[in-house]
Amino acid sequence: MLPDTAEIVEVSPRDGLQNEGRPVGTADKLHLIESLVRAGVRRIEATSFVHPARVPQMADAEAVMAGLPRVPGVIISGLVLNRRGAERAIAAGCDELTFTVVASEAFGQRNQGQTIEQGLLAWAEVAAMARAAGRRATVMVAAAFGCPFEGAVDPARVEAMVRQVLRSAPEEVGLADTIGVATPRQVMDLFGRVRAAVASAGTGRAAMRAHFHNTRNTGYANAYAALLAGATVLDSSAGGVGGCPFAPRATGNIATEDLLFLLDGLGVRHGIERGAVAALDPWLAGVLGHAVPGQLGKTDAWPPVP
Ligand code: MG
Repeated sequence: MLPDTAEIVEVSPRDGLQNEGRPVGTADKLHLIESLVRAGVRRIEATSFVHPARVPQMADAEAVMAGLPRVPGVIISGLVLNRRGAERAIAAGCDELTFTVVASEAFGQRNQGQTIEQGLLAWAEVAAMARAAGRRATVMVAAAFGCPFEGAVDPARVEAMVRQVLRSAPEEVGLADTIGVATPRQVMDLFGRVRAAVASAGTGRAAMRAHFHNTRNTGYANAYAALLAGATVLDSSAGGVGGCPFAPRATGNIATEDLLFLLDGLGVRHGIERGAVAALDPWLAGVLGHAVPGQLGKTDAWPPVP
């Protein structure tokens, strides 16, 4: 059954930009965030606190946090991968720390220099730091549906990781299809496992969050499947921009405006004005120097405007 409402986490300032070749200035990032907030977005993954030499596009994390509008009810999150990142995110004023554990040894090494075991330990540490600082702690299992280096990922391994991360009582636990290989039945199955893990965790009821890339055009079908399976939080990126610097030929997240069109048609409320997000596409394309994948900005309004 579909939920009545879904929360959208706008990841364009982080996942959307981190893979872009052309440096995006802090002022442009702030314009993007301000525009998204005006459109009604209430959750934004604003930046990541990773080593600037590894992801140069995120080197201005502190400046982005210092410059963005602080609007009551808008939750600003930062991606962190270790203790140092968590310290920076807390100092910079993130409302939420989002941590990623990778469900593949090979990808975990390339993405964040961690084994699965090290990732799980680092998450527990980061969750404790976030809690002590009064911030939200969210955890995503990355490469949950497939790894660019190892191929298929065992769902039992993902489930075991989910059960372990739930011990730190995250606000949300999510599955990320980092390289866009998932299909809806797999999404239903894996979120079914997460749902069962959450139900038996006994650490408070974590919401389920889904993060899809549209690399093989299954991202929107997967988002629909995730909602049916009980996810209530969906990541998306304005214009559908994005990718991962550590996954070969990774492409963008599902586009926020296209996802909103789907949710509007389904009657799932989200509080965001889809036209205002689509209207950002030409500006975004200018900043990035290439067209963006989102479709809504390329076609006529629906229903037609008289
Ligand atoms: Mg991603």
